[in-house]
Formats: sequence, C-alpha cells, structure tokens
Amino acid sequence: MTHELPTSRTFDASTTGASADPFRTVFENNLSVMLIIDPATGSIVRANRAAAAFYGYAITELVAMNICQINTRTLAEINGELSLAAQLGPHRFAFQHRLADGRIRDVEVLPSPVESNGRRLIFSIIQDVTERNRAEQQLRLLANVFNHCGEGILITDADGVIADVNAAFEAITGYSKDEVVGKPARLLKSTRHDQEFFAAMWQSLRQTGQWQGEIWNCRKDAQLFIARNTIDAIRTPAGTTSHYVALFADITDHKEHERLLEFNAHYDGLTGLPNRVLLAERMGQAIAHTVRSGRRFAVAYLDLDNLKVVNDQFGHAAGDDLLQVVARAIAAVLREGDTLARIGGDEFVALLIDVPDQAGCEHFMARILNAAAQPVMICEQSVAVSASLGLTLFPDDDCSAEQLLRHADQAMYQAKLRGKNRYHVFDTGEERNARGHNQLIERIRAALQREEFVLYYQPKIHLPSGALVGVEALIRWQSPEHGLLAPAAFLPAIEADSLAITLGEWVIDTALTQSASWKAQGLQVPISVNVGARQLNEPDFMLRLTRILDRHPGCAAGQLEIEVLETSALADLHHVSQIIGGCRKLGVDFSLDDFGTGYSSLTHLKHLDVSWIKIDRSFVSDMLHDANDLAILKGVIGLAAAFRRNVIAEGVENAEQAEALMALGCEHAQGYWIARPMPAAALFAWVATRAAAVDGALQTS
Ligand code: C2E
Ligand code: CA
Ligand code: CA
Repeated sequence: MTHELPTSRTFDASTTGASADPFRTVFENNLSVMLIIDPATGSIVRANRAAAAFYGYAITELVAMNICQINTRTLAEINGELSLAAQLGPHRFAFQHRLADGRIRDVEVLPSPVESNGRRLIFSIIQDVTERNRAEQQLRLLANVFNHCGEGILITDADGVIADVNAAFEAITGYSKDEVVGKPARLLKSTRHDQEFFAAMWQSLRQTGQWQGEIWNCRKDAQLFIARNTIDAIRTPAGTTSHYVALFADITDHKEHERLLEFNAHYDGLTGLPNRVLLAERMGQAIAHTVRSGRRFAVAYLDLDNLKVVNDQFGHAAGDDLLQVVARAIAAVLREGDTLARIGGDEFVALLIDVPDQAGCEHFMARILNAAAQPVMICEQSVAVSASLGLTLFPDDDCSAEQLLRHADQAMYQAKLRGKNRYHVFDTGEERNARGHNQLIERIRAALQREEFVLYYQPKIHLPSGALVGVEALIRWQSPEHGLLAPAAFLPAIEADSLAITLGEWVIDTALTQSASWKAQGLQVPISVNVGARQLNEPDFMLRLTRILDRHPGCAAGQLEIEVLETSALADLHHVSQIIGGCRKLGVDFSLDDFGTGYSSLTHLKHLDVSWIKIDRSFVSDMLHDANDLAILKGVIGLAAAFRRNVIAEGVENAEQAEALMALGCEHAQGYWIARPMPAAALFAWVATRAAAVDGALQTS
C-alpha cells in the first residue's frame, strides 16, 4: 500500500504559507504523523500536530530540530537509505525514533520527494509499529516453540476438531499434519479408557480449564502408545472456550520399564514365585493376623544342598530347570494361603500360616524335604538334590519379620551342619541368651582398636577402553585366629550396634588416607565406600561426614563416592535424598548399589539424585541364560539412560558377560574377570601392569 502524494505539484513548505492552501490543512490536521525534511541538512522543515503529539515536542520545537535528534541513525545513513529507495520507487523504511521523553519507538516511514520553492524536500508519513513488531516477534517465537518443541502439540477448536499439530505430533502419532487437520481429535482415541475416564477429563476441563494425566492413544499404524498429557482450554476474554491445546509426551517405553521393574520387585523371574519383597509383605500380614487370631505361623527356610553339583555337571540351564521343577513340587505340598518364595539362588522360604504348634509342623517339614528330593530327569539322567530346612514359629519366636527370617536361616545352617537333608528348629532359648552375640560385638570393637581391619580395593573399568574409572573399598578383618574374613562374617553382627557407625567412619577415613597416598605416588582414582543403612540413617550423618572430609583437605571433589544399597536408600527415601543432595554439594557422589533387588521403580529413581546405578551381580551372572534377567537388565540400562544416570555392572566374571553388557549399552563394569578385590599395594602394581598390557596391545594393533 502506498500513499499517493501530488509530487507533480509544488508544495509550500514555508511556515507562513497561505492558510487557504487545502494541502496545508490536510497536512496540519492529518491524524497521521507527518514531517517534511531537508535531505541536505537533515533539518525538520515542517511538522504537523500529530507529529507534535507523537514525539512530545511542540511544533515550534520540532521545526528547530534536526531529524538526527529523532532518528537513531546518522544523516548519512538515513540519506543512504533514502537514495537507495529512490531507485526502487515508493518504499517503506523501518527506523527507530526517539521521543521527547527518551523512549525509542519502532516506526515505519513512507517518504516522498517534493519540490518547494525550488528546494528538494522529503515529505514523510510516520507510523508507530512498535506494538505490531512486538506482537510479530512474539508470534515468531511461539511458532518456533510450537515447531521445535519435543512434546507433541495438538490444537483443536472448541468442538474438538483439529486445527493444528506440530512436528513432534507427527513423529509420535505417525499422522501428517495434512491428514489430521479438520478431523476430530478422537481419531487418536484407543479403547483402553471407558466413558467415565473421558467424562472426568471433560469435567476437569470445564471446571478448571485444565486436565493432566496419562492417556492410551492409538497411532496411525493402530499401535497403542501411552502419553503424559496436559490439556488447556483457551478462553476468549468473554470466557467461552475457543480452543483446546494438548501437550503430550510418549512415555510408552518408560511404562514398559516400570512394569518390568514392578514385576521384578515382587516376583522371581525364573520360578514365578514371590520374591523376598513380597515375602516380607506377606510375613507382615501374617504377624498382624496371628496377633489377632492368637494362633501361630511358621517360617521354614530352605536351601538346596547340592545344586552347585548339578550346575557344574550339566550347566546352568539344567540347574535352572531343576530349580523350577523343585519349586513346583514344593509349592504343591503347601496349602492354599501358604506362601513359597524364592529369595536367592537356591534358597526358598515357606510361610505356613495357622499351624497348631511345632509338632504340628513336622509332617509339613517331611513333605517339603520329600518334595525337594524328588528325582528330576536332566539330560536323560535322573538327578536328585536334597534340602536343608530351618524352622521357626511365631509368636514363640516373638520378633520382627526380618529377624524371623534370620532365625530360620540360622536353623537351616544348623541342619546343614548336622548332615543336610533334614530340618532343624530354631532354639529361642539360645537366642534370648544373647551373650554370645554381645561377645562377638566386643571382639570386633577390640579388633578395630588393634587395627585388624584392612580395606581391599576392587577396580571399576570402562569396558571399551579398559580405563580404570574408580575403585571400591571393601572391608576385611585380618583376624589372628581365623585369618582374612569377608564382611559377611562380621558386619551383620554389628548391624544394629553403634559400632557399625564407628567402623563405617573408619572405612571412609582409611579410604581417603589411601587416596591421598596414591595421589602422592601419581595415581588419582575415585574411591567408593559402602555405607550401611545404620550409618546412613544417623541424623547427623552429614555433620560427621563433613568432619571426616575436613581431616582430608587434599580430597578433591569427585574423589569420594558413596555406595548405598538400593534397599536402604528406599527405607527412608526422604532422608536419603536429602543426604544425597547435601553430599553432592560437598562433591561426594552417590551410587545405588545392588540395583534391581529392591523396590526399583521410576518414582524412586526420580527422587534420588545418584550419579551411578550399580546393577546387582545376580542379574549379570544370570543374563546369559535367563531371558527374564536379560529383560530386566535392558530395562535398568534403559531407565538409567532416561534418567541420565551412569550405569555399572558388578560381578562380571567372564568375557561373554562383558561383551553382552557392552552390546546392551552398559560400558562400565567391575568383577573377578577384571580383578578381584586386592590390598592397596597390589592395586598399584595392577594398574602398572595393566597400563603396560594396554600399551602393548596398542603397539601390536
Ligand atoms: P557389594 O557392595 O555388592 O560388594 C561387591 C561384593 O562382590 C564384594 O564382596 C566383592 O568381593 C564381590 N565381587 C566382586 N566381583 C565379583 C565377581 O565377579 N563375582 C562374585 N561372585 N563376587 C564378586 P565382599 O567384599 O565380600 O563384600 C560383600 C558385601 O559386604 C558388599 O557387597 C557390601 O555390601 C558389604 N561391604 C563390604 N565392605 C563394606 C564396608 O566397608 N562397609 C559396609 N557397610 N559394607 C561393606
Ligand atoms: Ca558396593
Ligand atoms: Ca553390589
């Protein structure tokens, strides 16, 4: 659009020109901002009322000014643009003009050359376009967000007819924009939700203008996907809904991982029996029920006596077959309402509810032993294993579910000692006399003073490069009487005692001292320490840790890492997530140990800001011959990636496992295949020989 101006006519530009000139009246009273400028000097020759109002100067002030006092450009620049435009014909210019109060406005200037008394002047109409520009910029920004947003966006009119979709929508649903615009949004609807679901959604949209939730939708190829959705009603100023905007992310993969992990949280993949977690739940219920009913229940801990022989002779697959057959046989002799759980490799627990007394359990024990010892055909040979059983009864053995399990386990151990293929009943009298236990605690306390504890270190490596990425400190008791003892021999005894904290702090302190000594020798490697539930749950854990760190000023951020068992982290999620947050500020990282054995779930992982997830070694050891463990492994690795956590596998014992892990995307590992835990001095030598080996490999390749 161009404003036609009578350029053929000479224009009286003098301020004192004849007021009868109709053009002059048009000029002065025009609602558009108008200026006449001398292009040679830039001086403003005439200005109208609208200009005075717009710029905030009186007309007399304006005509004493130079255009450069208003335009943010120099006269040369302005003239440059004008002469360029003269060749193009009528043209609008985008300038910025400064008002009397200092504000800068975007303006569009439409100039035309005019003649006045033989002088060439420029007549300009000026339009303020600041608001328009701002709106356009906003729109461009919105369009950008719309097009590049990773979430699918769907806009419908008030009747649910699709008005627009973005690229992410196309990618997620498989429909192109052209295919869906003008169609009702219900074309995405799956049959997974009932009428009530949608009724609730519409009610929320009507009442609050918003709905959030998860919906199963249907892709173009008829596949279902689950979307996390936020729908907003867009209302006109009058309050009626004009559009709906739905923002959604495809969370199908997350859901699948979650489902797998939830299953894994309660059931054993191999036998389909309840696992330790579900068993704990059922034991809790049994305790509550028994307290009300005044009856008894029994916990029988069962361990197969010679599964290892079968595994070694016929292979793991055969061992797994045998486990499944035995599990079915034992389950078959239990009553409805009883529970048989698999809680470890060849360990099962039977929970027998409403039993009369110990004598009344005897025939159950006999039937279970008999079922476990049934011969099974393996590789065309008849193979039989036997079982050892430990029994304890509640409330005769009046303690927590966890302790009941431990007692039944101890009794089972007695059955083994007495020759296997038998059962043994836990002796509560013996337990009440806890003197033995206390003595052990005192021996451990003394051992700490006598400096009989040492830390062994096990390397963690980056599989593709073989680079050392960290070491885990593992405690050992160098006992003068019994030799080198593994943590399982003494840590459980002090678990409930404050000595667990003292010893735990000794571990951190010793590891940091070791780290400094390695550093002085040129070996800098992050050290991880295991922190038990007792220590972690001390209210002043952070304070104590800070004190230890203060004693080691040379310890750089990222040098110390804490491994916590997934199960103890989940015991008090809130407390632990606070500790993790606090530690990260101190430069101390966290790793979730034995991951996959607890109540692993997305929700928990979200709350725990750990850098590492350590896949429990049971999954690694079984991954090559247990499809379910493999699926869980994949799930965990996928989850770790989704939550941007590093993942490391522990217990890698051979090259096949390492290869398989790498193929799944798990690039970090620890295990006997790489190195066994070793004394600090040995680690130094290990690193040196390994570096030489890697060098050698590089040179020959
Ligand atoms: P963890 O944290 O899961 O440590 C890994 C255990 O697996 C170590 O046993 C290690 O020797 C063993 N291991 C490593 N690679 C392999 C492998 O390839 N195959 C097999 N079968 N085992 C492997 P360790 O040293 O007997 O420690 C047992 C557990 O005791 C640890 O399990 C940890 O939970 C606890 N622990 C060890 N040291 C400490 C400590 O200083 N403080 C606390 N609170 N707990 C500790
Ligand atoms: Ca660990
Ligand atoms: Ca572990």
